Amino acid sequence: MSFNTRLQTLADEALTIGKACNEGANADYIPFLASVPADLCAVSMACCDGTVIHSGDHDYGFALESISKVCSMSLAMEQKGAELVREKIGAEPTGLPFNSVMALTVHQDKPLTPLVNAGAMSTVSFLDAPDKESRWQMILDFQRKMMSHNIRLSDEVNTSEQETNFHNRAIAWLLYAAGNCFSDPMDACEVYTRQCSTLVSCDDLATLGGTLANGGVNPVTKEQVISPDNIGPILAEMTMEGMYDYSGDWAYLVGLPGKSGVGGGVVAVVPGRMAIAGFSPPLDEAGNSVRAMKMIRHIANNLNFNVYRPC
Ligand code: GLN
Repeated sequence: MSFNTRLQTLADEALTIGKACNEGANADYIPFLASVPADLCAVSMACCDGTVIHSGDHDYGFALESISKVCSMSLAMEQKGAELVREKIGAEPTGLPFNSVMALTVHQDKPLTPLVNAGAMSTVSFLDAPDKESRWQMILDFQRKMMSHNIRLSDEVNTSEQETNFHNRAIAWLLYAAGNCFSDPMDACEVYTRQCSTLVSCDDLATLGGTLANGGVNPVTKEQVISPDNIGPILAEMTMEGMYDYSGDWAYLVGLPGKSGVGGGVVAVVPGRMAIAGFSPPLDEAGNSVRAMKMIRHIANNLNFNVYRPC
């Protein structure tokens, strides 16, 4: 059996396992996300050679949400260097939910990582940009480079989020008061909310991870998007906080850097090999898609893809 045939078999098996799971619930604090059909389910793999394998609803466009934090963090590292991102924002897990105010309070309002809401808004504000619209455009362009040129903002998702993001606005003001927001805080919050509101397919998400697996070169377009020096820091941040307060369990059970979003997407990176992405809306308590995690775990375990257990 060729390797690609094996991948297709694993993708189909994973989809069956994902669809059999009835745990979790759609995010409902963002009205749009509550309305997405909960039975949607997809798994995709993007290999470093550009091969994309998938099963299920692989071309359905869902909200990128927190996985957008990986793109803006990568862009900030490209602009400022990874060391400055670590110094200004951080590289530690918070051990608390992604929108925790307590995590800020106990750390003098420093976000600790670009992969929670506070750190993501801080990262957006840290980018060199003359104004709000150019800040947004450079982030959208970078999402397109890491995934595909089809990525676009959903007005419906964005409106739903902008009309209800009071908690994030409060976090932005706390950051600003402590000197950890480097632009107008409401601009940072608005642009952050837009970056969460782009629509991506499961194939796009796998390509995002594939770009990280492939030393910063998008495996589909072959464009060098991220410098190789920044890949280690990006994957370290994902390992520490990519799955929020489930990141330790994820490292223990799967052993791959990952990132989730409340839109139901999860992506795991196998350095030098591929990325595995899953999508299905129902989430666990931490905000991670239950089915996506099960599907990725099935494939990763079968292929012995665990960076802590090389064999
Ligand atoms: N837009 C969402 C928020 O700010 C993203 C959260 C997530 O995906 N974990 O709450």
